[in-house]
Amino acid sequence: MTTHIMPTYARQAVTFERGEGAWLWDTDGNRYLDALAGIAVCNLGHAHPAVSTALCQQSQTLIHTSNLYGVKLQADLADALCKLSGMDNVFFCNSGTEANEAAIKLARKYGHEQGINEPLILTMDKSFHGRTMGALSATGNSKVKQGFAPLLPGFVHVPYNDIAAIHSAIQTHPTIVAILVEPIQGEGGVNIPAGDYLNQIRAICDQHNLLMMLDEIQTGIGRTGRFLAYQHNDILPDVCTLAKALGNGVPIGACMAQGKAASILTAGNHGSTFGGNPLACSAAMAVIDTLNNTELVANAAHKGRRICDAISHLNRHNPHIVSIRHKGLMIGIELDAPCGELVGKALQQGLLINVTADSTIRLLPPLVINDTQIDQLTSTLSALIQEHTHQ
Ligand SMILES: *Cc1c(COP(=O)(O)O)cnc(C)c1O
Repeated sequence: MTTHIMPTYARQAVTFERGEGAWLWDTDGNRYLDALAGIAVCNLGHAHPAVSTALCQQSQTLIHTSNLYGVKLQADLADALCKLSGMDNVFFCNSGTEANEAAIKLARKYGHEQGINEPLILTMDKSFHGRTMGALSATGNSKVKQGFAPLLPGFVHVPYNDIAAIHSAIQTHPTIVAILVEPIQGEGGVNIPAGDYLNQIRAICDQHNLLMMLDEIQTGIGRTGRFLAYQHNDILPDVCTLAKALGNGVPIGACMAQGKAASILTAGNHGSTFGGNPLACSAAMAVIDTLNNTELVANAAHKGRRICDAISHLNRHNPHIVSIRHKGLMIGIELDAPCGELVGKALQQGLLINVTADSTIRLLPPLVINDTQIDQLTSTLSALIQEHTHQ
């Protein structure tokens, strides 16, 4: 069936046809519990009526006009995002990697405006920022970069959650103009840094006049129990990128800027034909309205705790569990050995999960997951972990 699809993904042997909330049905009518939400995309669950209604109405009104003209919904969405985030303005694009490309260009121009002709951006080992050449070059994972040299110059990598390494990189490379970092590393293994890591980076950026750029593509839109993960730290970055859950499945990305960063990209500097078109913005507005009018974001904190407490209780005598970590509904369960085969085994039991960094089970359930579904998730997954680790 996929013979004419370029084989860039190792796909599971299942095809979904329909969804509702945290449920998915395959082409044979089997039902699955989705604890991945299309990789942190469908935070409101599948076929959410607010999003479907907005898309239906907007598609019958106006889909696209280009950014050569005013786009009302884009302006409304930018207002709503700035109100929720504390940022000043927004550039809209169509994916996460594109949002990071905008951030990279913004940082470089910021450097050039200070007379730095070859500005550097500091990024982290084990980071993931996307697949296009700039974002790929920023990414700190040699596996995904393998075969694609020459990469874009201008990135310096240091270990994650290591403030001393940032200080010493800044000493060694005086042309660093920005720090690009994920509040929690997603693809890198659900790595949660020290509680004050972002605060310390904010202080370093202030001290050295660097742009603090947060990649909230996976952590944003309520995933961690706040609208944005940096809101746990009471700071504002200079630049913040969004995508994934912003459109609940409709492609849309955003690069938000604040303060001095908000006036760097000007007419002619950057663009996107599709970026922020009425259709995509209507979906994102429905997402924002729904999050504003429900307790979904606040509830993500205790739902995540309920999942982690249950899994840790059911596995309390299992020595193969290295750690269970979470912030809201961004959850990592690290085992002491590779466990990629659990993805297929869970699928056979009607459960969608992911394994990242070889040995970390990653759960990113939709924020709408309910207590009954949480109990099904934790009991199925615990049994699978016990079987896998021969407990
Ligand atoms: C998924 C992801 C990206 C890339 O987003 P795409 O929409 O796939 O381009 C970038 N950064 C982070 C942190 C991500 O999780």
